[in-house]
Amino acid sequence: MGQMNKAWHARNPTADRATFEERRPWHERHAKACGCRQMPVRTAAELAKRKKMAAARTTRRAT
Ligand SMILES: [Zn+2]
Repeated sequence: MGQMNKAWHARNPTADRATFEERRPWHERHAKACGCRQMPVRTAAELAKRKKMAAARTTRRAT
């Protein structure tokens, strides 16, 4: 596990009862800014699924 980016955490508090939609952008930013913990497997899987869906939509729109 990497170092905790305390300054980033101070600016980006975690919400205890956040929904997935609220946690998702937090985890995306967190993964880039800080290495103190890994994204939960289910969150990472859901993100990957949504990125795939978004890519499919973009492809359809382009063609
Ligand atoms: Zn962190």
